[in-house]
Amino acid sequence: MKTTKVKRKIVIAGGGTAGWMAAAAFSKLLGTNLEISLVESDAIPTVGVGEATIPTLHLFHRLLGLDEREFMAATNATFKMGINFEKWKNTEEDYLHSFGFLGKDCWAAGFQHFWLKGHQQGIASEIGDYCPEHLAAREGRFAVLNNQDLNHAYHLDAGLYAKFLRNIAAKHGANRIEGKIAKVNLDNDTGNIQSLLLESGQVVAGDLFLDCTGFRGLLIEGALHTGFESWSHYLPCDSAIAVQTKVTKTPVPYTRSIAHKSGWQWQIPLQNRMGNGLVFSSKHMSDEEAIETLLSNIDGELINQPRVIKYNTGTRRKHWNKNCIAIGLSSGFIEPLESTGIHLFQRGIVRLMQMLPQNDISAADIEEFNQQATAESNNIRDFIVLHYHLTQRNDSEFWRYCKNMAIPDSLAHRMKLFKETSRVFKKSDDLFGESSWVQVMLGQGLMPEQYHPIVDQMSDQELSSFLNTIKEGTKKQVQNWPNHWDFIQHYCKSKAM
Ligand SMILES: Cc1cc2nc3c(=O)[nH]c(=O)nc-3n(C[C@H](O)[C@H](O)[C@H](O)COP(=O)(O)OP(=O)(O)OC[C@H]3O[C@@H](n4cnc5c(N)ncnc54)[C@H](O)[C@@H]3O)c2cc1C
Repeated sequence: MKTTKVKRKIVIAGGGTAGWMAAAAFSKLLGTNLEISLVESDAIPTVGVGEATIPTLHLFHRLLGLDEREFMAATNATFKMGINFEKWKNTEEDYLHSFGFLGKDCWAAGFQHFWLKGHQQGIASEIGDYCPEHLAAREGRFAVLNNQDLNHAYHLDAGLYAKFLRNIAAKHGANRIEGKIAKVNLDNDTGNIQSLLLESGQVVAGDLFLDCTGFRGLLIEGALHTGFESWSHYLPCDSAIAVQTKVTKTPVPYTRSIAHKSGWQWQIPLQNRMGNGLVFSSKHMSDEEAIETLLSNIDGELINQPRVIKYNTGTRRKHWNKNCIAIGLSSGFIEPLESTGIHLFQRGIVRLMQMLPQNDISAADIEEFNQQATAESNNIRDFIVLHYHLTQRNDSEFWRYCKNMAIPDSLAHRMKLFKETSRVFKKSDDLFGESSWVQVMLGQGLMPEQYHPIVDQMSDQELSSFLNTIKEGTKKQVQNWPNHWDFIQHYCKSKAM
């Protein structure tokens, strides 16, 4: 029988969103038998973006036992019920991808099948009218309900979120070490990471190392040369400009994503400021042009100067290599379009906690971890590529590239299946469910050719009454909810306000 080590040493390199999420989770949930250290350098800034989230963050917060009001007030957060895609399909039309479920489905067919027949008969309105979160987002309303919560996420201040998590980590015994990592020391025999050498000369040794050093990937790539699979042929944007502005209007409960000539612009409203950015392809737009485009499309006084961020879309070939696990941007980056970064960090952290070695690291654990991480990333990648590829825009070289580019077979299959049959099947490692795929495919103009025969079990009158009942019920429900901003004022007003 193997002997059990008393305290396994976990070293987290990097103190951005990923590092502090990991430190808070490990210390709070498994800290008794772990010695957790986090090394970060005040001299190396975090990337400083990543302020829109998706509803899965609730699972993470529930694990940490966070109070929603306290967390929102501390991070200047607002509620988010989806993303409004403006000018993505063409330069005239918008659509909203909400986090809610569409209408009512049955065992054989999703709601879109019923909606499609209604649409063909001219008796169905926009599909979002059948979803409370969609309607509430459009009307700027929000509520926390006693019986069931709305499917919602948050817009938050990334710097304050890291601080908030840091306090939790500190409370549960995580040790913060200030210093710049100068060298990663490897064991000559095993190739495992032995320790981090800091510029100060301090040596931080450990059993498991979490690489949370952002795009640098100091451990996973710099030391272990794990390799990177590029997705730039599917996701041609490789640059972003980020700038914060003072608020000029009350915040809306959704992220805005506005397509431009060679990329798209985000607007992420917090309680006390607006986060703005332009994601673009450097092959099609210069940094100067991107800054000009962004600055001419924002309101409000600038709080900071526009910053240029360069990146490669793609994934690390292994997320877990030797005794190093990449969490955060060090593990790869898909795109900020559907705010999936923080979700993937959280998945990596929870997966690692579930597979935490007792003694020796198991090769089977590493293989399983990497398989799961790869499957999840690939599915998210497909969902994001969908938005670009399904455009009808023809007004720039960038959009023509996106429309005509080769796409992953897995995505081509999903699109064909939907077009020919209205069907969407959620795979076991899919993040986005049927309602998400349907909203984006319809929103981007992919109209299915036929619906499931079960819909014809209903007479035309029954179908009309079915659709109307859901629509009227949704309207009635939402009109009783308070205005989003009024709700924030009494629920989670930030001290910064
Ligand atoms: C343009 C853009 C927009 C994004 N928007 C979203 C979004 O809306 N939603 C979302 O979920 N995700 C988003 N992301 C992805 C991701 O969530 C954020 O970028 C997130 O802030 C990244 O956190 P991180 O901890 O991985 O990296 P970082 O914030 O870069 O942190 C890296 C840390 O490593 C430390 N470090 C680096 N080198 C050393 C060294 N030598 N010694 C010591 N310390 C070191 C740094 O000091 C820092 O603490 C976005 C990403 C980009 C690029």
